[in-house]
Amino acid sequence: MLHTNLSVNEKGHLALAGVDTVEMAEKYGTPLYLVDEERIREKMRTYIGAMSKYFPEGSMPLFASKALCLKKIYKIANEEGMGIDLVSPGELYTARAAGFPLEKAYFHGNNKTDEDIKLAVDSGLGYFVADNREELDSINRIAGEAGINQKILLRLTPGIDPHTHAAITTGKVDSKFGTAIETGQAFELVKYILTLPNITLEGFHCHIGSQCFEIKPFCDAADIMIMFMARVKSELGYLATTLNLGGGFGVRYTENDGDIDIDESIKLIAKHIDSTCARFEFEKPRVLMEPGRSIVADAGVTLYTVGSVKTITGYKSYVSIDGGMADNPRYALYQSAYTVLNASRAKEAPDITVTVGGRCCESGDLIQEGVKIKTPVRGEKLAVLVTGAYNCSMASNYNRLPRPAMVMIKDKKDTLVLRRESFEDLIRNDMD
Ligand SMILES: *Cc1c(COP(=O)(O)O)cnc(C)c1O
Repeated sequence: MLHTNLSVNEKGHLALAGVDTVEMAEKYGTPLYLVDEERIREKMRTYIGAMSKYFPEGSMPLFASKALCLKKIYKIANEEGMGIDLVSPGELYTARAAGFPLEKAYFHGNNKTDEDIKLAVDSGLGYFVADNREELDSINRIAGEAGINQKILLRLTPGIDPHTHAAITTGKVDSKFGTAIETGQAFELVKYILTLPNITLEGFHCHIGSQCFEIKPFCDAADIMIMFMARVKSELGYLATTLNLGGGFGVRYTENDGDIDIDESIKLIAKHIDSTCARFEFEKPRVLMEPGRSIVADAGVTLYTVGSVKTITGYKSYVSIDGGMADNPRYALYQSAYTVLNASRAKEAPDITVTVGGRCCESGDLIQEGVKIKTPVRGEKLAVLVTGAYNCSMASNYNRLPRPAMVMIKDKKDTLVLRRESFEDLIRNDMD
């Protein structure tokens, strides 16, 4: 099947990590996020192994929290020895509540408020990835008030467009994130940072985009960053020692997608960086990467219960499910491709082409179109594959739908890691 953790069991049901997904849907209700914990751990180990093998000491992967954020993921990341990247005080609070060592956390975002910065400094955050001058002033002031020196990286835009979808492309010069190298503004900002007494600039960050299957954009970005670091060294006499290349390795959502060998790609990027450093006579920096999607996406499957199959004579057929854009807004947002199966009859040949529609009051609330599937009947379970990233973390309560539960599977045992929201939860903050 699409990924090695997926199979069809003797009942003809889809199984994830050897566990019957239909049974899980019946036990915990739907919609249900089902996650293969061992797969997440394997991916983390692959990144950690490759980065420690091919890059200088101190190099490590940081899990991009925005792909999946709950206490359990930080516990797994900590047990496996990953760092993390955070983009909000809520993610920071969750990591802290999970006991994650925050000295291994990097706080991102293009608009950190003074309150965010204070919370992070008071929590012992390792690094800010600073975005702009106002923020640098604020970090410098708050670090000073706390009597500490705060380590930072500076986010830069290297001017790379990795040819993925525009909405998930972030390394271009025209971006709300970071500061452009090309315009000379990055160099000026570095000069300014070096005058700030309570900040130590350890290095630079860039993130070129998402869902990349090629290493060339990473190598191109690394070249631009290393040339910049070499210029900072020669003209300002300042040696930055960390290069953070961001996230972005692609994931196989459908049979049409390619795949990426994580170990091999990191090896090739490392080789490229070594030769660029040699060419510019620049000390090899420690390297950080920020994988999100490629750590958790293929660990997840979402299960839904079918309500109806409606064929509009002369047009097309709609399958309605008991979830939709509230638990997976990615098709509505970016027309993201997904593989959809009838989990109850996963081996049977498709006999209908359908549009899978959610239950929200929006015509755009679709999970996928043009899906070839075995015609389901009311009550059967539908599975959407590769939903471990940017589904749970993007879920909303639109139409006052309670957000789904998440169950993790390890050694064929299921554990509830995120309780399904109750109606009580929905009105918890409503004032009478
Ligand atoms: C989104 C993001 C990531 C993670 O990207 P993936 O495509 O999920 O690997 C990493 N770093 C930054 C700064 C991001 O914005």
